[in-house]
Amino acid sequence: MNDFCWDRVLNERLYNKLVKVFQKVHVTNRGCGVTILETVEWSHGILRKRSQFAPGSHEEYAVDCPFCGDKKHRLSFHYLWATEDYLSHQLRLHLVNCHNEDCVRNSDARRELYDMLFRKHWDNDDCEIAVTPDLIRRGVNGNPAGLGRRGKPAHDKPLPPPIKRSERRPLPDPLFAIIDKAVPNEAKDYLRARGFNLHELWARWRVLYCPEDLESVPALRQPRIIAPIYSPQPTMQIQERPTLAGWAARLAYELDPEERVRKYLFRLGMAKSELLYGWPGPIQRRGPIVACEGMTDVWRLGCNAVALLGKVASQLQQELLIQAAERRPLVVFLDNDAKKEAEKLVNLLRQRRRNIGEDHATVLATPPPGIKDVAELSRADAWQCIAAALRRSVTQLGIDYDAVQAPLHAKCLLAYLPKLPA
Ligand SMILES: [Zn+2]
Repeated sequence: MNDFCWDRVLNERLYNKLVKVFQKVHVTNRGCGVTILETVEWSHGILRKRSQFAPGSHEEYAVDCPFCGDKKHRLSFHYLWATEDYLSHQLRLHLVNCHNEDCVRNSDARRELYDMLFRKHWDNDDCEIAVTPDLIRRGVNGNPAGLGRRGKPAHDKPLPPPIKRSERRPLPDPLFAIIDKAVPNEAKDYLRARGFNLHELWARWRVLYCPEDLESVPALRQPRIIAPIYSPQPTMQIQERPTLAGWAARLAYELDPEERVRKYLFRLGMAKSELLYGWPGPIQRRGPIVACEGMTDVWRLGCNAVALLGKVASQLQQELLIQAAERRPLVVFLDNDAKKEAEKLVNLLRQRRRNIGEDHATVLATPPPGIKDVAELSRADAWQCIAAALRRSVTQLGIDYDAVQAPLHAKCLLAYLPKLPA
C-alpha cells in the first residue's frame, strides 16, 4: 500500500493547534517540504554552523490574523514554525508572516502567538505521554567495552580494566523523564503540590525520576527525583557540549519527621563546591543572575538562577558566579536561616567584582519574614523580592521568566534521553 496520503499535513501538531485556536486554516502547497542546508560561517571569530532552507515553495498554514483583525487569512505559518532548529536549538518562531500589516515582525508578537497555541498545553499539565526509552542500555562512555567504533571487536588492543558498573554509569538506573506516564502519581503530585510545572522541569532541567537503585553510589532506597548536574563551562557558547558532573536526588515525597532518611543525596565523588546547579542551563542573555541555595529555588525562579547546593560558596563557586554574572547584576538570595552567610557572600562578591572593574550591582535579596526559602514563594513574589533588592520593578529586569523554552545549553543528556515529544 502507498502510505503517502494527501489528506495529511506535514506538521500535524501545529496544524491541529491552529485549528483549535483559529478554527479555519487554509493549507497551501500541501506536502511540499523544504530541504535544510547546513552552512558554516564566521561570526565573532568563531566558526558557527547555521541551518538554512533551500529556496522553493513549502507547505503553509494561513489563518485570520488576530493582531490586525484581518478576515482574509493573511497570517501565514511555515509548516516548520516553532520547531527547534537542531543547530542553534532555538525555536523557529520567525517563520510566520502577516501579509496584511506585518503584525508579527517583532519577537513579542511571535512569542504571543506561541503562547496562544502552545501554552495551554503546558498549563493543563497533561502527563499521559511515554517518553522514556531504554536509557541505560547504550554504552555510556562511547562504546561498550571491547567493541570498536562500528560494533566490531577492536583487534589487538588490550581491554582496559573493567570499570565498576556504578562508576561507569553517569546516572541512576532505571530512570524516567518526570513527565513520563511510568512515573507514579505520588511523585508527580508531590511536585505539583509544591507549585512546579512538570513540563517545565523536564524541558529546562531534564528532571528525572528513579524508583530505586541499590547499585548507584550512594544507593537510592526510596523513590527520588533526580536532577542532573553539569560541569561548569569556561564559556557559554552553544556549540560546546556540557558534560555531566553528577546528580542530586531528592525524596519524591514529603519527608516524615520520624523517618530517618536524608532528603537530598548527591552522587559520590561529585564535588559540589566546584559546581553551580543550573549553570550551564536556562540562563537568558539579559537580566540579573540569582545565586540561591538549592535546586528547588532554581526551579522556582524559572530562569537566570543558579544554586550553590549549600549555604556557603567556595572560592571556585564565587569565581563561577562572577563569570556567570559578567556585565549584569548579581543577586544573592539564600534561605532565611542563612542571613549571615548571605551577607558575607555579598560583601565578598561585591569587593571582587569591583576589583575587576565590574560596575553592575551586587545585592542581597531576602525572603519576606516568615518565609523559609525561595521555593516557598510564588515565582512572581520571588522575582518581586529580587526586583526590590535591585530597587527596580519586575518589568525593568529585562528577563522573561515565564518563557516556555528548552534550555539552550543542557544538551548533553540528549545522548541518553529523547527530546520532548511533539
Ligand atoms: Zn496582521
